[in-house]
Amino acid sequence: MRIVDIRECAVPLKSDISNSSFDFSEMTTSVVAVITDVVREGRPVVGFAFNSTGRYACGATMRARFIPRIVGADPRSLLDDTQENFDPEKILAVMMKREKSGGHSERSIAIGTIEVAVWDAVAKIAGKPLHRLLAERYNAGTVAHRVFCYVGGGWYAPGQTLKDLQDEMHRHLDAGYTMVKMKVGGLPLVEDVRRVEAVKATLPSHAQLAVDANSKFARAEAFAYADALAPLRLRWFEEPCDPLDFALLGEIAARYAPPLATGENLFSTQDVENLVRFGGLRAQRNDVIQVDPPQAYGIVQYARTVAMLERHGWPRSALFPHGGNQMALAIAAGFGLGGAESYPGVFGPFGGFADDAELDGGYLTLTERPGIGFEGQSALYAIMRELAA
Ligand code: MG
Repeated sequence: MRIVDIRECAVPLKSDISNSSFDFSEMTTSVVAVITDVVREGRPVVGFAFNSTGRYACGATMRARFIPRIVGADPRSLLDDTQENFDPEKILAVMMKREKSGGHSERSIAIGTIEVAVWDAVAKIAGKPLHRLLAERYNAGTVAHRVFCYVGGGWYAPGQTLKDLQDEMHRHLDAGYTMVKMKVGGLPLVEDVRRVEAVKATLPSHAQLAVDANSKFARAEAFAYADALAPLRLRWFEEPCDPLDFALLGEIAARYAPPLATGENLFSTQDVENLVRFGGLRAQRNDVIQVDPPQAYGIVQYARTVAMLERHGWPRSALFPHGGNQMALAIAAGFGLGGAESYPGVFGPFGGFADDAELDGGYLTLTERPGIGFEGQSALYAIMRELAA
């Protein structure tokens, strides 16, 4: 058995939304198809993935380095001990051949996207949903059937009024979500606080609200926002400063007592370890870590990051992978994490879950399709199928 081809294409996300720091008018994502010669139900197994949200397509490095290394390797060297399936750990090691240390984001997204597509194929060959396979390997067989899901919403949009924002949040609650998140940092502080208060005022008492600054603030502004947001009983204040400025994050954590969240822009296990050693975050006060596996070398490396965090006393319930897609959902369920994000109505076919997924009381039920389950997400699967044809 062997991987016969790996294809990738860049697809525009086409969106007019903005966070505090940039708009998504040029945003693209890489879709990957790992084509095998293994036949299930009369057809070759193909594993799919895309590079999650917020990082541009990265096909050039895939084509120049990572795809040729896999396709050019001895096929038997990529199999697991049973010789009946591929071994994602060995495939990750092949992609990392002749790669210099450091500089993770130059390759972690390309490698992670291919690696997650390999896992989709591995789960399909095993005839299991990915979350079940991951639970067996990484969570002592404890299989979650539903995952807590919150909405990453409240984006800035042209001409948006406070009423528009409140209406958006009510749509999310009416759909069955119990927690919503909104952007801050895109307007002057006074207007931003008015925005947060307007949403807070309209939420029912059981619903939770978080805010996301997308790494916008330097020291003075971060402190000003921290002081203004502290009384608002937010579930978390996300990315108040540069994702690698652990010293400043530590100062913010000393000043702002409620929970903080960060990690979607960290791409290596060592960076995440530095975050928990030097960034002032603590599991005891419900801080949250949001590493996005397809952007950070994939699932094998994510398991190493989870193991490192457990050594530092972090429970899996504090981990919420960024991304708002079926990959993050399967990973959250498989590893038994705190939850996942959701982007209803933004990012087109790339923001969402299976068409038949059910949401109840803030929890999304998982479908039992083999693999990640993209086949149940018709608009996205049409793009993937065309790539593999
Ligand atoms: Mg964020």
